[in-house]
Amino acid sequence: MLTAKEIRESFKAYFASKGHQIVPSAPMVLKGDPTLMFTNAGMNQWKDIILGTCEPEPRRRADSQKCLRVSGKHNDLEEVGHDTYHHTMFEMLGNWSFGDYFKEGAIDMAWEYLVNVLHLDPADLYVTVFEGSAEEKLERDNEAAGYWLKHVPSDHIINGNKHDNFWEMGDTGPCGPCSEIHLDSRSPEEKAKVSGRELVNKDDPQVIEIWNLVFMQYNRKADGSLEKLSMNVIDTGMGFERLVRALQGKHSNYDTDVFQPIIRVISNMCGKEYGKEENVDVAMRVIADHLRAVAFSIADGQLPSNAKAGYVIRRILRRAVRYGYTFLDFKEAFIYKLLPVLIETMGDAYPELEAQKTLIERVIQEEENSFLRTLETGIRLLEKKMEETKNSGSKTLSGVDAFILYDTYGFPLDLTELILRENGMEANIEEFNVEMQKQKERARHAAAVETGDWITIKEGETEFVGYDFFECDAEILRYRQIKQKNKTQYQVVLDKSPFYAEMGGQVGDSGWLINGNEKIAVIDTKRENNLPIHIIEKLPQDITADFTAKIDAKKRIQSECNHSATHLLHESLRKVLGSHVEQKGSYVSPDVLRFDFSHFQKVTDEEIRKVEQLVSEKIRADYKLEEHRNMPIDEAKKLGAMALFGEKYGDKVRVVKYGNSIELCGGTHIPSTGMIGSLRIISESSVAAGVRRIEAVTAEKAENYTFMLQDTLKELRALFNNVPNLAQTIRKSIEENAELKKQVSEYIKEKVQTLKKELIAKAVVRNGVKLIVFKGEASVDAIKDLAFQIKGEAQSEEKVFFVAGIKDGAKCALMVSISDSLVKEGLNAGKLVKDASKLIQGGGGGQPHFATAGGKNADGIDAAVDAILKAAELV
Ligand code: ATP
Ligand code: MG
Repeated sequence: MLTAKEIRESFKAYFASKGHQIVPSAPMVLKGDPTLMFTNAGMNQWKDIILGTCEPEPRRRADSQKCLRVSGKHNDLEEVGHDTYHHTMFEMLGNWSFGDYFKEGAIDMAWEYLVNVLHLDPADLYVTVFEGSAEEKLERDNEAAGYWLKHVPSDHIINGNKHDNFWEMGDTGPCGPCSEIHLDSRSPEEKAKVSGRELVNKDDPQVIEIWNLVFMQYNRKADGSLEKLSMNVIDTGMGFERLVRALQGKHSNYDTDVFQPIIRVISNMCGKEYGKEENVDVAMRVIADHLRAVAFSIADGQLPSNAKAGYVIRRILRRAVRYGYTFLDFKEAFIYKLLPVLIETMGDAYPELEAQKTLIERVIQEEENSFLRTLETGIRLLEKKMEETKNSGSKTLSGVDAFILYDTYGFPLDLTELILRENGMEANIEEFNVEMQKQKERARHAAAVETGDWITIKEGETEFVGYDFFECDAEILRYRQIKQKNKTQYQVVLDKSPFYAEMGGQVGDSGWLINGNEKIAVIDTKRENNLPIHIIEKLPQDITADFTAKIDAKKRIQSECNHSATHLLHESLRKVLGSHVEQKGSYVSPDVLRFDFSHFQKVTDEEIRKVEQLVSEKIRADYKLEEHRNMPIDEAKKLGAMALFGEKYGDKVRVVKYGNSIELCGGTHIPSTGMIGSLRIISESSVAAGVRRIEAVTAEKAENYTFMLQDTLKELRALFNNVPNLAQTIRKSIEENAELKKQVSEYIKEKVQTLKKELIAKAVVRNGVKLIVFKGEASVDAIKDLAFQIKGEAQSEEKVFFVAGIKDGAKCALMVSISDSLVKEGLNAGKLVKDASKLIQGGGGGQPHFATAGGKNADGIDAAVDAILKAAELV
């Protein structure tokens, strides 16, 4: 029996033998595509080639791509674990042809690989072809059907509708018919009863799609019409885990050697067996699956967080924790302990797992712990809500409450329902759905963008000249309109541009497009599928004119100082803290640089100082920029350049070198490090478990930062008469202050004694109660002290009532202290104070025997004290 690893290799070997270049998997977390957070198919990394913005050579490629289907168009999350063939993260085996072979080649190779190389039984294979669509004016894909007939009998060819057999990249863009290959893995008896043909695309767990061959031949325009695509593309995707299951003769992806080792460890950890009870099995599958998704995301640089992609990852992890908590009795963090077995099964093919093991473990462990705390808070809240619901005579929890649990505490509806059911209750599902719908609409509203078609002025591609020039002549190649929340902008593609488009953390350039007297501001430059897009708010009068494209050089140079300084900082951090330091995120703008890196404790002040000193040395050494624009990646690595996890690199890379700092980087940099002037670290903090963040400024901003520190110091010095040793003087002043405070408090104590004697002497007895009243200027603490003394000195059954109206600077306060015997009679200091506090425009309260309230209106003191006495029937 072939192992998973052998199967992966055999795919690559087969397509290599057919002239395909075998490429590495692109990162699973996407950076340069505003329409997509995660890679969800093998073709994602070829979008720029398919859209024509990037060179298609070599025209045949193949790979095994890490995919994640948990958001957007492909979201399989809720199925995962419940069925046995959908995963969140899975590997997609794919082969591509960019304007090389088309339908016939793709069909022949797929068939040859499955049947002649892997020896799947042709009797178990069914294929689908696009049946055509009147509305699209497209006929059946007879071409594909014809090629299939070379391999399969006609009763193994099934027509499929637009939904299953017409693939589209998005609302607009490349699209075309597709052919899927389905596998029937039922028993001979079942096959004899019902033909597999009847079960294709009918959600039967044993008759499943394994491979999809997409034939891109059209382009969908914004008005919905189709035009011919300029280059035909073959894009295929086969689920690796499903193929392994077929070849290992299993009926569930989880029974293969991809998942079994992980499930065995989970089973040992919780002491429950796999395959005995449905709930337990589902939970184990969920955990085994989600472990992979989360670990690979972290390895690719996407940590769990509160927003966007990070939030998706957080939710996946929470789903796993929750299944473990509910069905496997894991009440403490456990998923992080599964990393070693994951590395055992997948570490060979994906070395990023082993390389970042500690980081992944720590991040998962911390997330688990924090979610377990949330879970308990949520369970307590749910218990309280159930109690309230029962008390109101109902057995139905409101949908709003269920939604709050879902939205704030990460409780999926099914968990809430489960707990409710255990208590003989249910949730109002309709109400829940209404809330959910409302939230979805809010999200849709916030994100709605209307994108117009590209309007082409001239054919061509952008030449980026910004490494060498700040301005150049340029013509507009194409533009389109973008509308978001009633704001209209235009995106413009130029034939030649000095504008750096946002990438690798460095923000995009701003500047101008100039034609004679007309100066159009370029407010930002972004990158979409590798296409540099200049954003303007108004179209030039003559769109076909010859423009001067000019960037805001001052801002650009500030960004460059920060970017080059980031490289020096990275190198220095590795020197001072160790080689475990790796870039986890970077942001470079004209104002500031932010650098996130793996490190497991706080960077100490001494370490920060050392890093700053090292960077300064490198700045003073004035290293000249050594730049290699088109170096083969292997050569760059030999030079000592470090590739970052989660970055996608081509065969040729750009290397940026200053002294010993060597990085693979596409950003723009200063000609020599001296221009940075200086670097100042302004903060060091934690972003997540095992990841620290440093913020720093350079050049003019560093100078301003130093000025600010100097000014503060100057001001302090002046306050202390410019004494030579400021710190000592301040320390002395603090000590003196403490000494004075002590003296003042002793003085107050004495005064309190005197005051107490005076007040007791003035005390009156009303209704058998000894009434002591203070009104006047004093510190609240002193009067509190006094109140406790009076109470402490009273006889055991004596009834003492102390009330104070205190003016303390700009504030005022009320205080009531009564003896226990009065409390027993029903008096309540807390209530008295609370009611009277309105008269001093304040609020407060306390316990039955002692209470205070603070307020703003000292003029109300008399009235407040009177009100208290009246309420206590002591007037
Ligand atoms: P299905 O109908 O089974 O959800 P799909 O139509 O979504 O599949 P495609 O988008 O065509 O699948 O993806 C290509 C291949 O990737 C599929 O043939 C299948 O083998 C595999 N695949 C798709 N989704 C998943 C998933 N969630 N987990 C594992 N493999 C998958
Ligand atoms: Mg699907």
